[in-house]
Amino acid sequence: MMRSRSEDLFETAEKLLPGGVNSPVRAFRSVGGIPRFIDRASGSRIFDVDGREYIDYVGSWGPMILGHAHPQVQEAIRKAVERGTSYGAPTVQEIALAKTIIDAFPSIEKIRMVSSGTEAAMSAIRLARGYTGREKILKFEGCYHGHADSLLVKAGSGIATLGIPGSPGVPACLAELTITLPYNSTEAFRAALDRHGKELACVIVEPVAGNMGVVEPAPGFLETLRELTRQHGIVLIFDEVITGFRLAFGGFQNLCGIEPDLTCLGKIIGGGLPVGAFGGSQAIMDCLAPAGPVYQAGTLSGNPLAMAAGLATLEILGSRRDDYAALNHRTEELCNAIQRLFGAADIPLRINRAGSLFTLFFSDHDVVNYETASSSNADRYAVFFRGMLERGIYLAPSAFEAAFVSFAHSDEDLEKTLQACAETIETMKG
Ligand code: PLP
Repeated sequence: MMRSRSEDLFETAEKLLPGGVNSPVRAFRSVGGIPRFIDRASGSRIFDVDGREYIDYVGSWGPMILGHAHPQVQEAIRKAVERGTSYGAPTVQEIALAKTIIDAFPSIEKIRMVSSGTEAAMSAIRLARGYTGREKILKFEGCYHGHADSLLVKAGSGIATLGIPGSPGVPACLAELTITLPYNSTEAFRAALDRHGKELACVIVEPVAGNMGVVEPAPGFLETLRELTRQHGIVLIFDEVITGFRLAFGGFQNLCGIEPDLTCLGKIIGGGLPVGAFGGSQAIMDCLAPAGPVYQAGTLSGNPLAMAAGLATLEILGSRRDDYAALNHRTEELCNAIQRLFGAADIPLRINRAGSLFTLFFSDHDVVNYETASSSNADRYAVFFRGMLERGIYLAPSAFEAAFVSFAHSDEDLEKTLQACAETIETMKG
């Protein structure tokens, strides 16, 4: 059989890049097969180097809510390129993007731009430690906040896919400062704060988890985090790198009405270019250098191309803020239809959905935290993933990730997805 170009390229890539990739989950290790090398993308579609077309539910892991290569975003980037690519000095665009975000998030008075979600979370915890003068931090199992040392403890995403608790290279003395608790367990949280409340600088949480697959907060969970962190003088950080501008214009905090002290953002606010940001009250943010003593910096922070792409994206989303309901509803209908297909085939499946994010868990029990997520059948997901890929549907190459529906997905795309799903299920029966 003729080898594909992706196979040839992956063979070369493996000689040049560890595992053949620049980010672990891309390598298809948990689902089997060879990653597709992508040549270009447009709207809801990505095209590989072998000329195959896929309906894309990865969306660059979240940023592409408008679909790929949106003409207005492309134009904004083109115009920015003509003025030079980086100056290392202030620009008008970074103020414009900051103002757009601040206007959309009642809890944010000041914001700092960085170049990734990892940097945003890493810097936010340093700021919380500097602000409180405390060292310990608390996170939840299965939540992923990027790969900074302190946060790579019982993290989700690629760490969950590879089935490892943390990572070699993270000093034990640093990991010891990170307390981890089961997501959605209010009792465990209360008990931990009784013990460690006065030592904790911050509590960081994905307000809707996306990195153990989608898991919504149980009623009262986020409320308890807010109440008890306030009581103990702990900085509450919402990591809205995925959920920011995804579930509504603004963050999940706008929907649930709970205001954290700091918020981490990324993905959508960069419109597909490398961006992250963290923001919060003036009192905390002004502890950052040069206003205050907590150091944080970046050669490419506030990069003009990234600001232009982010601004264009948020302008479009702002003008379409009423359309989120329809996007979320279409995603719900897709999920319901998928659930029916699996039900008819008697294959146990739980779909968790929040807005236009969803995860298929091959499980016969509800998925409410990392333990219940990781006991779902990842081998069955791998079979499903390969069946869908063969039929032109590009899902996340891991059982513990979200699928992302964009404004560019048409009814026809969703129909084709269901058709592929029905055919794949036929191959999975028996
Ligand atoms: N926080 C969350 C919730 C994320 O989902 C991610 C990445 O997926 C990050 C932080 C890290 O962002 P980045 O990959 O841009 O460093």
